[in-house]
Amino acid sequence: RAKEMGRDHYAFFTERMGSDIRARLAMQQQLRGAICRDEFAVHYQPQMCLRTGALLGAEALLRWENPVLGKVSPGLFIALAEEYGLITAIGEWVLESVCAQIRAWHDAGLGSIKVAVNLSGKQFAQDRTVPFVEAVLRKYGIAPACLGIEITESTVMGDPDKAVAALTRLKDIGVGISLDDFGTGYSSLGYLKRFPIDVLKIDKSFVDDVTTSSSDAAIARSVISLAHNLDMRVIAEGVETREQVDFLTEHGCDEMQGYYFSRPLAAAPFTALLRERRSLAVA
Ligand code: C2E
Ligand code: MG
Ligand code: MG
Ligand code: MG
Repeated sequence: RAKEMGRDHYAFFTERMGSDIRARLAMQQQLRGAICRDEFAVHYQPQMCLRTGALLGAEALLRWENPVLGKVSPGLFIALAEEYGLITAIGEWVLESVCAQIRAWHDAGLGSIKVAVNLSGKQFAQDRTVPFVEAVLRKYGIAPACLGIEITESTVMGDPDKAVAALTRLKDIGVGISLDDFGTGYSSLGYLKRFPIDVLKIDKSFVDDVTTSSSDAAIARSVISLAHNLDMRVIAEGVETREQVDFLTEHGCDEMQGYYFSRPLAAAPFTALLRERRSLAVA
């Protein structure tokens, strides 16, 4: 009887495992052709100045919609792309799309907007990534100050010396560098000293309860003063409520990004937002 149950259990387990593996295989197969079939799009989430309310820039967030799988979250497909060696091609597609879009906004007279692109650790570890960034900026004639990159602590953990060299080269040409999800990884304050970081992004997990949890409030305040003491700016991520905005403003946070102001937008609605901003400035 026990053996029977054991066998049933085993059968159930392998069946589930099988279907998971099939799902991963299907996703991997679809992912391989996704660039050619033009299934990716970059969305843009506004980053706002907390003091003036001005739109300062955007974070580029990749979206994938596939005819078989539907919309797949980046949390799933980015990890898979890293695992299957597809992240460099996908990451380069993102950088190129963003630079083409910045060029288009510039040509439409919508000013120069700063866009931050997420770089994965696997992509970052490749010697070709920094030269690719330089080449794509040149190709679209974009001032490096219009581009930022977002890294996380784990992005640079694999080979910190190499990361310092690559980031220093990007910073030297004028590309901004943000440390994403700050406080959630294997944070080492030493990184803040070694890496040429311009912006610390306070992770959403600390912002969520910043008005109700005294420890999250203390963490947020400390990150803000730490960043300012190191001459860095601070962006709060995942801001959803008026109360969070008030708290962050009161404690000197520089910028915010979150559903309170806007979800990530496709290029067309983001362009409309830039037009509004321009007409407000003219009025
Ligand atoms: P991230 O870089 O930390 O991006 C912030 C995530 O928080 C985004 O999720 C964004 O849509 C979400 N978010 C922003 N404001 C709010 C809010 O107020 N409430 C809530 N609940 N969520 C908010 P998304 O777009 O699903 O991206 C998830 C992660 O996938 C990103 O985290 C980033 O690590 C990665 N990712 C996205 N695009 C790319 C890319 O082009 N390349 C690489 N390497 N990674 C990317
Ligand atoms: Mg990010
Ligand atoms: Mg983040
Ligand atoms: Mg994140």
